[in-house]
Amino acid sequence: MSTGTALEIEGVSKSFQALPVLKELRLTIPAGQFVAIVGKSGCGKSTLLRLLSGLEQPSSGTIRSNGHPVSGLQAETRLMFQDARLLPWNKVADNVRLGSRSNDRTLAADVLEQVGLRDKADEWPANLSGGQRQRVALARALIGQPRLLLLDEPLGALDALTRIEMQQLIEAIWTKQKFTAVLVTHDVSEAVALADRVILLEQGRIALDIDVQLARPRVRDSGFIHYEKLIL
Ligand code: ADP
Ligand code: MG
Repeated sequence: MSTGTALEIEGVSKSFQALPVLKELRLTIPAGQFVAIVGKSGCGKSTLLRLLSGLEQPSSGTIRSNGHPVSGLQAETRLMFQDARLLPWNKVADNVRLGSRSNDRTLAADVLEQVGLRDKADEWPANLSGGQRQRVALARALIGQPRLLLLDEPLGALDALTRIEMQQLIEAIWTKQKFTAVLVTHDVSEAVALADRVILLEQGRIALDIDVQLARPRVRDSGFIHYEKLIL
């Protein structure tokens, strides 16, 4: 489990040519927190996540990850997107291994076990369902125990029941491993179901920053996941 501050965002602005997208954001995310960023399409959620990942640089301001200025994608940071982005010519276990710098087959088997796909290690991605492909993407993101997991609408393309299964899986894994997670979603109920803290972005600024941890206690370290859904 990690301690201290995972991410410090200080006066961060981002513009694309003349278009200001993020405006003087200030935000501190403690290590081990599960934060959801919600907001309408186009409000800058994915842009913020790309800045946090180091894939893109702010126009002004600074972002520190684990105390160090972010520049380029760090090994301890992993991303997951709406599409699984698996390599079709690699079998499942080989796709998962791409997430780590180690070539260890047992590591891939362990994370595949965690996401319930141990028996699919030698399967081709094309033979999996959409939900299974996202499980592989999650396994690839988790291999080697990252410190920071950045999730950009990871469940957005799944049907409602598969989405709930995946929410339960992500919560169960996070409860055990306590990495820092930043989830971008336009689905407020998903944000509340998963996160300790929900941040609403509006026109490039933080309009709301709500602690939902107290409102929805988690049942930690148990095989069961209880949802007390909050109506915002
Ligand atoms: P969200 O993820 O909340 O839907 P985005 O962060 O993707 O929003 O986009 C925010 C705004 O920034 C949009 O108006 C989008 O068109 C613009 N934008 C995002 N990336 C780029 C880019 N690389 N070049 C130009 N404009 C961009
Ligand atoms: Mg987006």
